[in-house]
Amino acid sequence: DIVYLNGAFTQRQDARISPLDRGFLFAHAAYEVTAVYGGRLVDFEGHVSRLRNTLDAIAIPNPHSAADWEDLHVQLLHRNGLQEGLIYLQVTAGAYDGRDFAGPDVFTPTVLLFADHRPLIGPVAEHGIRAIFLNDIRWRRRDIKTTQLLSQALAYRSAREAGAQTAFMVEDGYVTEAASANSWIVTEDDQIITRNLSSDILPGITRAHVIARLRDRGLTVEERAFTPDEAYAAREIFTTSAGAMIAPVVQLEDRPVGDGKPGPVTRLVQRLYYEALGADVSK
Ligand code: PLP
Repeated sequence: DIVYLNGAFTQRQDARISPLDRGFLFAHAAYEVTAVYGGRLVDFEGHVSRLRNTLDAIAIPNPHSAADWEDLHVQLLHRNGLQEGLIYLQVTAGAYDGRDFAGPDVFTPTVLLFADHRPLIGPVAEHGIRAIFLNDIRWRRRDIKTTQLLSQALAYRSAREAGAQTAFMVEDGYVTEAASANSWIVTEDDQIITRNLSSDILPGITRAHVIARLRDRGLTVEERAFTPDEAYAAREIFTTSAGAMIAPVVQLEDRPVGDGKPGPVTRLVQRLYYEALGADVSK
């Protein structure tokens, strides 16, 4: 595995980061996860623009132009022979002498990228997953993609203990999003609903892509919060993310969603998304 760290491509086992790095001590870091399909980056512009927003919000100077970020991603995927999988990028506020909360006036970032080979259109997309509900205990800036991920790591552990693959997080009586994906429902009367953007959720790049594709087709997407009861009553549920693309949710807690199989709207969204990737998923 070849990784990129602070200006150089090296073997992963040779990459070294200081124990005083603010990413490690304070989770003072931005990250992005970009899908690679057919050896090509998916929706890269969206990721690089969200990265810019995250870095601005957490006082880290953006070390590269959009073109340079793209070049680093492309070089990394070539060096790793990545055809299908993810590229993980993290930019931290860097390492300084000691552990001062505020840190220096201007940070010198640590930049890390690594590749993750994995099927993105696989059994999960085909058969779906089970979700449980959990209280959303995350911090208040969910609209930026930072490494404040402890609550989500614990959410995945709770889901696994319950025999589920993800959690839908609930706050003030409404679903915010899934543990690492945006959540969608399709109601009995065919309304397609996903939560509106605010600091309560991450503005998913896959979410934006799917909204645009559905609207291109003349379909209406309602951007609003929905309750756990609306999710129980939904005919279909799915999640969107770079990592799992379009994942049907076929069981919610102990109840089947619809007839317990991925439904027609979910299949349509998958088809539109896969088409945009240039994926041949015809059987
Ligand atoms: N919401 C959360 C909390 C996430 O962690 C993610 C992705 O990891 C998403 C939504 C989906 O965002 P994207 O489609 O940009 O991957």
